Amino acid sequence: MNCPFCGYHDSKVIDSRDANDGVRRRRQCLQCDSRFTTYERLERSSLFVIKKDGRREEFKRDKLLRGIQIAFQKRPVPAGTPDTLTDDIETELYQLGKTEIPSGTIGDIVMSSLKKLDHIAYIRYASIYRDFEDITMLKEEVDSLAGHAVTSADQLSLLPVEELPVLHKTARRARR
Ligand SMILES: [Zn+2]
Repeated sequence: MNCPFCGYHDSKVIDSRDANDGVRRRRQCLQCDSRFTTYERLERSSLFVIKKDGRREEFKRDKLLRGIQIAFQKRPVPAGTPDTLTDDIETELYQLGKTEIPSGTIGDIVMSSLKKLDHIAYIRYASIYRDFEDITMLKEEVDSLAGHAVTSADQLSLLPVEELPVLHKTARRARR
């Protein structure tokens, strides 16, 4: 950053401290000796997914969204639900404050979100993205959900009221 007083291109850092999600630096111009402060935020693109086999790949929102869209295919959820959910999950991932996240952790977050919204979408996602030991385990999941005696149609209307403002808020953010 150029000196805000004389425009000179170089400065030295005289103090540096963490501030929320970035670093605050006190600088001194190498030409006019004026002091000024800069605030550097971490780049959001520095999130990596660690796959089960140890491979590391950059986190891609589109990939997350695609998986969620497939799970919600032809389900009676409001348009934009997969997008909203993807935004919420993405935010949650960044809030973990890590640069690397195991793919299993992401799967768990997606599944617990889907479980609250739509059991069919949850089961679909689970069967595709989760390594169920065998079909018995998947059946146990289905049975435990069925045990709650909630049909998916009822479930949507049972969406907790406190979650609705969150959905609206993220919908607005997504349109930006
Ligand atoms: Zn200067």
